[in-house]
Amino acid sequence: MTVTRAVPFFDASRIPDDLAPIAVRPSPMLPGDWRSMRPVVARDKCVKCAVCWLYCPVQCIVERAAWFDVNYATCKGCGICAQECPQRAISMVPEGA
Ligand code: SF4
Ligand code: SF4
Repeated sequence: MTVTRAVPFFDASRIPDDLAPIAVRPSPMLPGDWRSMRPVVARDKCVKCAVCWLYCPVQCIVERAAWFDVNYATCKGCGICAQECPQRAISMVPEGA
């Protein structure tokens, strides 16, 4: 089945070229480049309920064979997964610690 869009995708060629550079050039940085805290999953506590996967706003929870883990490239360190984990299996630790 072919899906047609009533509104075309965003067309970057229509952006005026006199705007501030930050408005027209996407940053190559990922959240893992600026995050201040990171979630660490205690594998022995995780029961694979997927609540963290459900609540993560950027969908960076990844399933492993025996636990759920975090894609640290895209995790922004918001801590929602740690707040919502019913097993208290996720701890937020400072980056660099
Ligand atoms: S919410 Fe907690 S127990 Fe459930 S899958 Fe995520 S880390 Fe594991
Ligand atoms: S800290 Fe936030 S972004 Fe990172 S895995 Fe948890 S909910 Fe997702």
